[in-house]
Amino acid sequence: MATLYRKYRPQNFQEVVGQNHIKVTLEHEIESDKLAHAYLFCGPRAVGKTTLARVFAKAINCIKRKSGEHEPCNNCDICKNITAGHNLDIIEIDAASHTGVDNVRENIIAVSRVSPSSLKFKVFIIDEAHMLSIQAFNALLKVLEEPPPNIIFILATTEVHKVPETIISRCQRFDFRRISVIDIMKKLRYIVNNEELKIADEILEDIARHSEGYMRDAESLLGQVVAIGGKEVTREEADLVIPRSDLNEAITLVGLLAKKDAGKAIALVNKLLDEGIELVRFTRDVIELLRKIMLAKINPALSDKLGLELGETLEVRIGEISKELEVKQLIFFIEKFYEARNELKSAFLLQLPLELAIAEICLGVGLAIKTPVVKPAAGNNGIKPTVNLNNGSAGKNPEPIKTAVNNPNKFSQLSREHISAKWNEVLIKVKKYNHSLSFILRVCQPRNIAGNQLCLAFKYKFHKERMGDENIKQHVESVLKEVYGQPLIVEAIVDESIEVVNGDNGGGDNNVSDNNGNGQDNINPGETEVKKENAGNGENKMMENLIKTFGGKVVN
Ligand SMILES: [Zn+2]
Repeated sequence: MATLYRKYRPQNFQEVVGQNHIKVTLEHEIESDKLAHAYLFCGPRAVGKTTLARVFAKAINCIKRKSGEHEPCNNCDICKNITAGHNLDIIEIDAASHTGVDNVRENIIAVSRVSPSSLKFKVFIIDEAHMLSIQAFNALLKVLEEPPPNIIFILATTEVHKVPETIISRCQRFDFRRISVIDIMKKLRYIVNNEELKIADEILEDIARHSEGYMRDAESLLGQVVAIGGKEVTREEADLVIPRSDLNEAITLVGLLAKKDAGKAIALVNKLLDEGIELVRFTRDVIELLRKIMLAKINPALSDKLGLELGETLEVRIGEISKELEVKQLIFFIEKFYEARNELKSAFLLQLPLELAIAEICLGVGLAIKTPVVKPAAGNNGIKPTVNLNNGSAGKNPEPIKTAVNNPNKFSQLSREHISAKWNEVLIKVKKYNHSLSFILRVCQPRNIAGNQLCLAFKYKFHKERMGDENIKQHVESVLKEVYGQPLIVEAIVDESIEVVNGDNGGGDNNVSDNNGNGQDNINPGETEVKKENAGNGENKMMENLIKTFGGKVVN
């Protein structure tokens, strides 16, 4: 059965799978009798370049083909002769083979001088044309500069960049693509029916998917499956040949993530590990799958064009899961699995990076490394910190802080500690521009820094909204750049759980300066100096001040 590929090699245009964009043009040229002297077929291996070249050579020479038609009859002596590979006017050269390279020059020069003996057109099909020697290319170029009538060159190559520009410019170029899973499926189904075999669609789909767009690989894999299973192939028999695909499991995992079922998801990963699945590859499958769903969410056409091709059965499953997910979530999932994938290689517990990713996604925990609560430093003038950058809002439940993960190379030098260390400097500089703005920043919490994004949490929505004001944002960002020596983008969020103990705007000034004046070492820079004060009074004062400055309105 290993000869399925030969047996089912397309003999006319209709039988050629995929490459419609190329077929249409070639068919039209044949119908209208407007042929080029040279064609360049570029593209990956095993997608039908030489097959199409042969069909083309046959069609233009078929004596039974009527004008205005493009298909060879496959019945006349010429067609039969060409199909059998016996015609001397169809010259196939494999430039990759040694003899090919040696002979090609003489062949091209000698043979192209002689008109076709039996056919209308003499056709050179040069496979792996990029392997031709410089001498051979020169000979070819000479011929192409003054092409003899009735001689056609078809150059096929997988590496078009190695073909001289002078040659390319004299050819009509066609770029072949890999063949879709659906098209490969159709061909496999046709072969299976024709051979009177019994193989489930699901298995054919696995074969099609595994061959990654290469028809010849798909046919050869089908041949191997049939060799083991015979006329009726079972799943078990197919599994012996088709390299295991974990896409089904990957889809199951994504489904569990969508449902936030961490328990089952972690159990699945451990089951796969027990079964000997390579987790790095599995993680890659999960990422590709998530990417596909994300692309489909953004624009279905994108997914069709750029996404992983899965075949109908799996597409249906994914369609269901994707309804439960939003693009935002998908981006987060991808980031987490991407991180996990990088960590898998060095993990001493193989499954741990995946388990962590799952826990973070499903439970929203562990987003960060907890930083210890830092006590007020000794030289801090007894000021009681009420807003602690290192600590969460309530003090007892330190809020997880996301550490910088994006673009680690570019921004690795900035950590939360760096931000905290110079926060007072930021406040002072901002204050020169706007007194109350500095106050707002003083009672906000810098949360995390990811890449060049600094997240600031505000207790009040209108603080956040003011921070969104383009001028204010710009000013704050320019101060941040000045202080930290690199551009930072402020991302403001609201967290009502932040406890702001009444601030004293007036007194704050000195404290800022004092703190700043102290040695960096013994200051906990994260602690801003919002002073504890009589509740109602300070709050009103603060509000008044803020409203005055920003023109905001207190709702609730
Ligand atoms: Zn014919």
